[in-house]
Amino acid sequence: MMDPLRPDAIASSVLDGVADGIYLVDRDRQITFWNQSAERIAGFGRAAIQGHSCADNVLVHVDVTGRGLCRDGCPLLATMNDGVERAARLWLRHKDGHRVPVRVRTAPVRDGSGAIVGGIETFDDDTALIDTVAQAVTTIKNLEEMAMTDVLTGLPNRRAFEQAALGRLGDVHRHEMLLSLLVVDIDRFKDVNTAYGCGAGDEALKVVGRTIVGSCRSGDFVARWGGEEFCVLGWAEEPGEAAALAERIRALMGASIVYVGDHDIDITVSIGYAQAGLGHTVDDLFRRASGATMTAKEHGRNRVAAA
Ligand code: GH3
Ligand code: MG
Ligand code: MG
Repeated sequence: MMDPLRPDAIASSVLDGVADGIYLVDRDRQITFWNQSAERIAGFGRAAIQGHSCADNVLVHVDVTGRGLCRDGCPLLATMNDGVERAARLWLRHKDGHRVPVRVRTAPVRDGSGAIVGGIETFDDDTALIDTVAQAVTTIKNLEEMAMTDVLTGLPNRRAFEQAALGRLGDVHRHEMLLSLLVVDIDRFKDVNTAYGCGAGDEALKVVGRTIVGSCRSGDFVARWGGEEFCVLGWAEEPGEAAALAERIRALMGASIVYVGDHDIDITVSIGYAQAGLGHTVDDLFRRASGATMTAKEHGRNRVAAA
C-alpha cells in the first residue's frame, strides 16, 4: 500500500508542479517529502532537508514578534495533535539566512483507517503581499499628506487647519492656556496681481507664508486658509500674547520687501485675532477673528484688531 507520507514518482511530479511550497512530516516531525517550490522559496534542496526533523530548527519558523515556533507553537505539530487544519502568517528562514514571509496552511495526513500519521504544510511566498501592503500604507500616508498640504506654499491647508483647530479647541478646557486664532489677510493683493501678474502674486504668497512662519513661535500652527489669507493658531499664557504675535507678524511683513523677478513689492497685511472660549466651534472662532480682520481693513489696513 502507498505510504501517504512518501509520494511515489507520479504523485511527486504532480506536487512539484504546484506553485506553493509543500512538505510532509511524520509523527516524529521527520520531513519525508519536500517539493520544488519549497526549495525555491526556502532555498534548501530536497536532499538537504528530507530526513531532517522540522523540530531541528532547520526552517525556524518565527511569528511576527520573532518568537521561534519550532519547539513551542508549531502549527503543524498542533494540527497533528488535534487533527484541525490551521492557517498562519509566519516567517521562515531561507537557506541564505534572511527571513521570508510566508502564508502557511497545515493539515493532518491520515492513513486508510483515519489515524493521523503525519502532517502536510503548504506555504507560499508572501513577500509580494507584504511589499504591496507597505506600498499601500506609504501611498495612503502620502495622499493624506497631500490632502492636508497647500501646493503653492507647502503650508498646511484649510482642512489641516480645521483639524488642528478642532483638536486644540478640544484641549482648551484641559489647559490653563488661552487659545488664539489670527487671520492674516494681505492688503490690496488684487493690485499686486494686476501690477505684476499672477505669477508674481504666487511668488509673493510663498514669501508671505514663510515670513509668517518665521514670525511665529515653535508651537504655533500656521496654515494657508485659502486665497491670500493665512491662519495662525497659538497657545498663550496671557491675553497680551496673541496681540504681540499679531503685531510681530504685521511689523515683520511691513518691513519686508518681497523680491519677485525684477520687482520689489511692498506687501502689508491686516490681522484680526480672537480668543477661543469654552464651547466655541472652529466656525465661531474663525468668524470672530476674520470679523476683526475686516475691522483692521476698515481702519486703514496694515494693522491689527482684536475681536
Ligand atoms: P484687501 O486689502 O481688502 O484684502 O484687498 P485685496 O485686493 O487683497 O482683496 P481680497 O482679499 O478680497 O482679494 C484677494 C485677491 O487675492 C483676489 C485674487 O486676485 C488674489 N488671490 C487669491 N488667491 C490667489 C493665488 O493663489 N494666487 C494669486 N496670484 N492671487 C490670488
Ligand atoms: Mg482676502
Ligand atoms: Mg486681501
